[in-house]
Amino acid sequence: MEYFLIAVYAFLILLGIGIILGVLLVLFSKIWEVKEDERIKEVEKMLPNFNCGACGKAGCHDMAVAIVKGEVSKLSQCKPGKKDKNYDPIIEYMSSHPDEDGTKHVPTI
Ligand code: SF4
Repeated sequence: MEYFLIAVYAFLILLGIGIILGVLLVLFSKIWEVKEDERIKEVEKMLPNFNCGACGKAGCHDMAVAIVKGEVSKLSQCKPGKKDKNYDPIIEYMSSHPDEDGTKHVPTI
């Protein structure tokens, strides 16, 4: 009976620690949340999303980040991309969505 109580106490202590750490994790993730430029998500949706790495980036998300930052001058870096389905919509989107200071990073095909 004594071992049973010890096991119950141990379980309750571990459960309490787990709950406290879980709450702290959620709290800190909200406090230190990094807001990503919403254009990145939009540009990523317009890419083929094969995540093949043929563009030289780790995947489509990295390519979208580079496009939004103006680090990509030619969209044809994305080999599976199509002019009408991918490149043109991205060019149009980036033309109408400049940086906060008004700088436009519009890549070409
Ligand atoms: S080449 Fe295109 S499809 Fe492949 S990872 Fe790069 S952006 Fe994505």
